[in-house]
Amino acid sequence: MSTFSILIDVKKCTGCYNCFLSCRDEYCGNDYPGYSAAQPIEGQSWMTIQEVERGEYPKPKIDYVPRPCMHCADAPCMGAVEPGVVYRRKDGVVIIDPQKAKGKKEIVDACPYRVIFWNEALQVPQKCTLCAHRLDEGGQLPRCVEACPTGALVFGDLDDPTSEIATLSKKLATEQLHPEYATKPRVSYVGLPKRFIAGEVVFADRSDECAQGVEVTLEGGGVKLSTTTDVYGDFEFDGLAKNVDYRLQVTAPGYEEARCQVVTLRDVVLGEIVLAPK
Ligand code: SF4
Ligand code: SF4
Repeated sequence: MSTFSILIDVKKCTGCYNCFLSCRDEYCGNDYPGYSAAQPIEGQSWMTIQEVERGEYPKPKIDYVPRPCMHCADAPCMGAVEPGVVYRRKDGVVIIDPQKAKGKKEIVDACPYRVIFWNEALQVPQKCTLCAHRLDEGGQLPRCVEACPTGALVFGDLDDPTSEIATLSKKLATEQLHPEYATKPRVSYVGLPKRFIAGEVVFADRSDECAQGVEVTLEGGGVKLSTTTDVYGDFEFDGLAKNVDYRLQVTAPGYEEARCQVVTLRDVVLGEIVLAPK
């Protein structure tokens, strides 16, 4: 038994779009009988990159979240039509049969992740097949995984305990994209965007010098984190929970302590925190 899937590390994704382009190259105008009909030149993207803008000036950020079909274990697309039209292979890959699905537009609306597209010319719903034709040809990687230059996409067999994906899934705190959809997605993530708190520390009496190495601690939501400011006097806590009341404390020898309360209703850029000498 195998369960093929992809583990996506959002922190390693640079938004280069190589996965998107290689997917388009694989499927645009190319018919894979039994797997997928040719993708049209325009209007479809079986691997989408969601750009998530975070923070604000002077600390804006952007995270890139690659979104293929999740190959859900509890897939609503399979239940939208009669059995066999959308089916799960023994290796876990969910396939829309390009012949049997003709005219069945209702399959498009069944996916809460919105990763199924309607091919108007061929009258067929289409989506990512995890490059099943390549897997069957002799264990080739999905094109998106092969094209990723940063290792953000890890493909493999979740049922093989020696595989990289199984090892990483066990070791890392993996997450689901939109767990509230309750579809048991097999594609999993590391580092999905959460909240961050950032700021800059300055010494009131040394304005010509960056406050490097100052200790900053953050406590709230049952966790206590600490860091030190970098060469510019900047600090950042990322991966924080949403809507939590945090207490921030800044301490440096010879200076009065600075404290403030921050609620992560959104990403918070505190600006300058000025430490006065004792
Ligand atoms: S992500 Fe959507 S298309 Fe893919 S298996 Fe899940 S419900 Fe079906
Ligand atoms: S190829 Fe890799 S790094 Fe580039 S956008 Fe896709 S997942 Fe991100």
